[in-house]
Amino acid sequence: CAVESYEQVRASADLVKAAGATVLRGGACKPRTSPYSFHGLAEEGLKIMQQVGRETGLVTISEVMSADMVGLVGDHVDILQIGARSMQNFPLLIEAGKSGKPVFLKRGPSATIDEFLLAAEYVLSQGNSKVILCERGVIPLDRSYVRNTFDISAIPVLQEHSHLPVVADPSHGTGVARYVAPMAKAAMVSGAQGVMIEMHPNPKVALSDGSQALTPEQFSSLMNELRGLAGYLGVKM
Ligand code: PEP
Ligand code: MN
Repeated sequence: CAVESYEQVRASADLVKAAGATVLRGGACKPRTSPYSFHGLAEEGLKIMQQVGRETGLVTISEVMSADMVGLVGDHVDILQIGARSMQNFPLLIEAGKSGKPVFLKRGPSATIDEFLLAAEYVLSQGNSKVILCERGVIPLDRSYVRNTFDISAIPVLQEHSHLPVVADPSHGTGVARYVAPMAKAAMVSGAQGVMIEMHPNPKVALSDGSQALTPEQFSSLMNELRGLAGYLGVKM
């Protein structure tokens, strides 16, 4: 979830790369429900992402929370993440569009499909065609079991109504580590063009989203299962 230190990001990068991942996501600016939670290392965290990206050859992605930060985040990572809470931050969408950088746009927790697609349109309308849509779950009926309801049907629906690639985030989609693998597999079977999975070298000490983070062992065994599924489905991974 978050960039905590160079050592934590480098260890994570080595582990996910060895397991077959191609993109490294680490948040340096974290939107948190409480103002007293860990909010990320900001510029220092972005520098860590840039350094680890260079060292490992992994493509990097990090969240940008405001229009005035687009330049700074874009100078350090390959892809700009716009988080669920910012999906309708229109000045941010416009600035991200103008940057020309690839934009990873997450669906708002209560956003309809049309609202999501129109948010993407804000980026596209700036002449930036590099938009990736991310389904990350919507507000659940019952929060006692899951953090969000992972909307699997959104994957084929979004693909039918747009030409943009759709990536699934079963980590925020469930909020519970043991439900991440089943939903990641469901996402792949449903046609998702990618999955974003949160992992941590030691989830118990993670500064954010530890309860949904996979251990390195869980991550690599999920990657093996996804590779098996990709073979069965005849899709490239
Ligand atoms: C995240 O990706 O770590 C995150 C904060 O996700 P979301 O914006 O979907 O809540
Ligand atoms: Mn997170």
